[in-house]
Amino acid sequence: MEIKEIFDTMVYGPAPESAAPAVDYLESHNRTFDLFINGEWTKPNSKQYMESHNPANKELLAKFAEADEKDVDKAVKAAKEALPKWAALSGFERAKYLYAIARQIQKHSRLFAVLETLDNGKPIRETRDIDIPIVVRHFYHHAGWAKLRDTELRDYKEVGVIGQIIPWNFPLMMLAWKVAPALAMGNTVVLKPAEYTSLTALLFAEICEKVGLPKGVFNIVTGKGTVAGTALVNHKDVNKVAFTGSTNVGKIIRREIAGSGKKISLELGGKSPFIVFEDADIDSAIEGIVDAIWFNQGQVCCAGSRLLVQESIAEKFYAKLKDRMLNLRVGNPMDKAIDMGAIVDEAQFKTIDKLVKLGISEGCEIYQAKNAVPKNGFFYPPTLFTDVSTSATIAQEEIFGPVLVAMTFRSHNEAVALANNSRYGLAASVWTENINLALDVAPKIKAGMVWINCTNQMDASAGFGGYRESGFGREGGKEGLYEYVKLKIEDEFSSKPTVPKAVKTKSEKKSKSILEDIDRTSKLYIGGKQARPDGGYSLNVMNAFGEYIGEVSEGNRKDIRNAVEAAHAEKSWAGMTGHTRAQVLYYIAENLAIRSEEFAERIMEMTNQSLESAEEEVEKSIERIYTYAAFADKYDGQAHSTVQRMVTLAMPEAVGVMGIVCPDENPLLGFISTVIPAIAMGNNVVVIPSEKHPFSATDFYQILETSDVPGGTVNIVTGHKDELAKEMAKHYNIDGIWYFGTKEGCKDIEFLAADSMKRTWLNFGKYRNWLDNAQGEGEEFLRHATEIKNIWIPYGA
Ligand code: NDP
Repeated sequence: MEIKEIFDTMVYGPAPESAAPAVDYLESHNRTFDLFINGEWTKPNSKQYMESHNPANKELLAKFAEADEKDVDKAVKAAKEALPKWAALSGFERAKYLYAIARQIQKHSRLFAVLETLDNGKPIRETRDIDIPIVVRHFYHHAGWAKLRDTELRDYKEVGVIGQIIPWNFPLMMLAWKVAPALAMGNTVVLKPAEYTSLTALLFAEICEKVGLPKGVFNIVTGKGTVAGTALVNHKDVNKVAFTGSTNVGKIIRREIAGSGKKISLELGGKSPFIVFEDADIDSAIEGIVDAIWFNQGQVCCAGSRLLVQESIAEKFYAKLKDRMLNLRVGNPMDKAIDMGAIVDEAQFKTIDKLVKLGISEGCEIYQAKNAVPKNGFFYPPTLFTDVSTSATIAQEEIFGPVLVAMTFRSHNEAVALANNSRYGLAASVWTENINLALDVAPKIKAGMVWINCTNQMDASAGFGGYRESGFGREGGKEGLYEYVKLKIEDEFSSKPTVPKAVKTKSEKKSKSILEDIDRTSKLYIGGKQARPDGGYSLNVMNAFGEYIGEVSEGNRKDIRNAVEAAHAEKSWAGMTGHTRAQVLYYIAENLAIRSEEFAERIMEMTNQSLESAEEEVEKSIERIYTYAAFADKYDGQAHSTVQRMVTLAMPEAVGVMGIVCPDENPLLGFISTVIPAIAMGNNVVVIPSEKHPFSATDFYQILETSDVPGGTVNIVTGHKDELAKEMAKHYNIDGIWYFGTKEGCKDIEFLAADSMKRTWLNFGKYRNWLDNAQGEGEEFLRHATEIKNIWIPYGA
């Protein structure tokens, strides 16, 4: 073609990247890779090897080992053995290794980029300019955190052996997001890459060898998720599981390790809204969509796959979008001028196509830019659906392909409602030239990341992760580090509850005097009112010597449901400033102080402890309320220092409606220590008080009523603790649950909470000394009472 002709047509010439270095690399390994265990390349027990193909041309790239349970066991043993020495290194020493890894990846970045593109099918432009630079950035950033751990996280220590399972959409990037913070915090790792894309992880293992990372600190078991993945998740010596992938597998893993005490973080799917208001800069928004849904062929968990456009501009917007789609170039991912490469595998291609056909059959209007989509590999054309109803499958299910589903809205309230009409909550993009509108909408969207006039922003210094069925936990930023550490004080938790000594004579005398003129059956407390239980039954309450002291209502599933409804109906508490909430909490403390004698007597009556220790419990409860009144306006966010020109605001937000199952020890203090931090952060709560000693909570109704706590912020359902707790764990409208009880109870809660993917925080049969401030209060409680939302706002030139 002549230059003049090119100017006339403006067609692109081919600009292929050479595959030679990657091909040479594969050849140098005879295109066959073993497992990386304890710093050695190890043949798999099964002697089986799986194949990795280039999805752009279906050619065989390499074979890699298929690990089984025995290999996983070997790898976990190696990681366990390596742990003490690695954890004992100074932060500075660990930082040097992470820095060396960052430098080596940087040095070999082109090889990594080419290999990733061959294995995954994504354009070289993306692996070269986005994936690998983000990987390098992650190791640099976390080299810094390794150095700073001992000062900035001085109360914390490593978790232990971490089992990590990653997907195929950003193979090396997902490895970096998991491995860098884990190693920085002093943990050792066994990683299972996705079977479609194991090659860059194996090259990464060679980098670890090159920098002299101690043997066993990092191990790779390639193979099938259902074999190697399952074995890793369930291995008894794995202390934490970190998973990124589908919501279904996330739920399986959650259930499998329920009650084991293993830490878990899940980064799952999404159906993220991309909201365009009528005053948006339309051309920028169109380019935003290209990045949101056609980046990495739409195989992105945070892809802006649901386009919500204000009705007044919808037609014009769709027309421009269709024009732009015609200009997207789909083809050989090794071509530097290609916009979209190949789908990772035939199976994923078929999944996408099936959902697209379903969309057509459900009456949605399809538009596909089919021009020049190659036939040989797994190439899927950019696809747009309009006329989509909110209930259509394609509006609700994650397609994980280059398919955009569009809907319109009229008012900004409707935009928020549509945005939140999803079981997921990973990310959202908001496009408007009106900063007030953008900043009004951002906090209302249930998502871990909100991008204002931008999309798909991610950086090592900012947390990434979701709400709801998008999983829990954060990766990146200081918030991400907490996934890989635990409080040193946890080692001091006891395996038995500390129960104050019962003193017979004194308590008998006291209990009689207090019982003289009270109604012995206390009611439930729902929506700010005392309520009779749905079943009409009550439970006897006994003291420490098994003597009858009164009755409480026996709540059931319907009472929990009513309490959850009341908690959702209360809208004012979360919107109050921390300052206002603090005043209410101080008021609660003041009212409790006025009645401290009565509360102490009640504790004595239930537990038969001495007056001194009952008084100490009340005094400590008042102090604890002060702690969280103090924190209410001080547990604030951060502006992260990301590499983009953005202000990235990490905002702690209330989890929403939380279920709180109180400990049995310390009837008043246990209730206060769990309920008050949750409401201090703006949550509304449904509380199941101690089953054994419920009266401190039921007496508290009056304190709540006289302290300006809105009706519906604290709801209390008494009854059989574990039965009610299970109802809460199953309830779809409870966003998080704290449980302090038995080991078996913990297992049930984690198992049942998997369905709705609610966040859980449990004691795993370990007991705190609630009277000790180091164990009974602190930021840990606030962290579990909040979600961090990162709001990205363009800033500067
Ligand atoms: P999966 O969730 O199945 O795979 C993710 C990782 O988990 C892989 O390493 C996989 O291994 C492993 N795995 C699979 N089953 C188990 C198990 N029972 N126990 C432990 N590990 C397991 O995702 P798919 O690859 O099947 O993709 C399916 C859908 O998942 C996509 O269409 C997309 O909707 C979603 N997805 C979401 C991602 C995200 O980033 N949120 C990433 C990838 C997919 P193996 O490779 O052997 O299957």
